Amino acid sequence: MAPQLDAYFSQVDSLSEHFINRLREAVAIPSVSAEDERRPDVVKMGEWLGSQLKSLGAEVELRPLGKQPGKEHLDLPPVVLARYGRDAKKRTILVYGHYDVQPALPEDGWATDPFKLTVDDKGRMYGRGSTDDKGPVLGWVNAIEAHQKAGIDFPVNLLMCFEGMEEYGSEGLDDLIEAEAKKYFADADAVCISDNYWLGTEKPCLTYGLRGCIYYSIEVSGPGQDLHSGVFGGTAHEPMTDLVKLMGTLVDVDGTIRVPGLNELVAPLTDKEKALYKDIAFTMDNLYESLGSTTGIHADKERTLMGRWRFPSLSLHGVEGAFSAPGAKTVIPAKVIGKFSIRIVPDMEIDEVNKLVIKYLDEQFAKLGSKNSYKTVVQHAGKWWVASPAHWNFTAAGKAVERVWGVKPDLTREGGSIPVTLTFEQATGKNVLLLPMGSSTDAAHSINEKLDRRNYVEGIKLLGAYLHYVAEEPMVEQ
Ligand SMILES: [Zn+2]
Repeated sequence: MAPQLDAYFSQVDSLSEHFINRLREAVAIPSVSAEDERRPDVVKMGEWLGSQLKSLGAEVELRPLGKQPGKEHLDLPPVVLARYGRDAKKRTILVYGHYDVQPALPEDGWATDPFKLTVDDKGRMYGRGSTDDKGPVLGWVNAIEAHQKAGIDFPVNLLMCFEGMEEYGSEGLDDLIEAEAKKYFADADAVCISDNYWLGTEKPCLTYGLRGCIYYSIEVSGPGQDLHSGVFGGTAHEPMTDLVKLMGTLVDVDGTIRVPGLNELVAPLTDKEKALYKDIAFTMDNLYESLGSTTGIHADKERTLMGRWRFPSLSLHGVEGAFSAPGAKTVIPAKVIGKFSIRIVPDMEIDEVNKLVIKYLDEQFAKLGSKNSYKTVVQHAGKWWVASPAHWNFTAAGKAVERVWGVKPDLTREGGSIPVTLTFEQATGKNVLLLPMGSSTDAAHSINEKLDRRNYVEGIKLLGAYLHYVAEEPMVEQ
């Protein structure tokens, strides 16, 4: 039976100005995690969030995470852990969000004060953190309040984990999640994260996959110092020549990765998966618009989305130590470091990929017959994540989206990574759902970040509706 939600929805509507004011208060606290001098504001934001939750009757703990690695004078901001409801008969849902924000300076080109929520006549609410991730975090808080004011029983026990260092590598969070998996988070039946975006602007989505990323550098060195080509050109093996040749062997202009064996690691495309792509609200024009050009590799949307989400890609990023300034300097760099990364997908295991990549580059270097020194180094590696969109956590969210927005959500993946997703899945062993509130045009990390009023208000309804559906969805995969 579909949950009774009308009273909740109308309560959200009548509280919408109050909820916007709550977001305004949050945006006004410049909780920029990357700037040391803003750290007190990040802490203040965590405390403010904790007090909002407390005033609604949640049990709240501000967990200290100790000192910031490499900056021992600086305390990390606390993780806000909270619990709302302790009813053994109800399911328990764990939600994650972050209360810190990206840096924002008016002189970067903001049209409004980034720390003053400014609503324009189209209902676009501008302000740093509006969509990433204060709006969604407050969505959970607002859902609790609207239930109380409407006199509706809260459908689940809600566990909350809100961190203050997400925009700075989530320092300290993995350890906390692992330590609390069997303690604070022990009751969780499923996990929901609202910290990504719709694929477009009109159709909501549920996200079930993310690519991983392995970042490499290739170091080539020879001469003891930089040389002049007029003196040494034609007499010495040049590191830059070796490096350009090596980097040129990695990938073709159509994106094909040339490392033997790599493509064989990729999970084959099944008919069932392929069918998910057909109805997704995305066009080649959407791609061209976001690219700012028509230089796409593939002719159709399905292959383009697969290229972004479910196939690996290899990108060349730069060369450290190379001459990159304007002009015509005749230098021969003594040491150059080429940077590239591979976005990895199921079933590519990090160790296997590394083995293939390093073996291939070692062979390519040997073929050059150069006397220079060379090595390939793995800088960092993060695994991909994919969940089953047939899990009850997803089917419940799908019903909530249909109820609130009147359409079936797109089932999407993302080409980038949100590392905490995999951490929650591995630590708790539970299904993780990404349920976004904002849309593709929200400019999360850019100037003029915004959240549409409609996405915020309907998003509060959606988060609440999701909790009702997930409370009663049969716990089976369909
Ligand atoms: Zn975020």
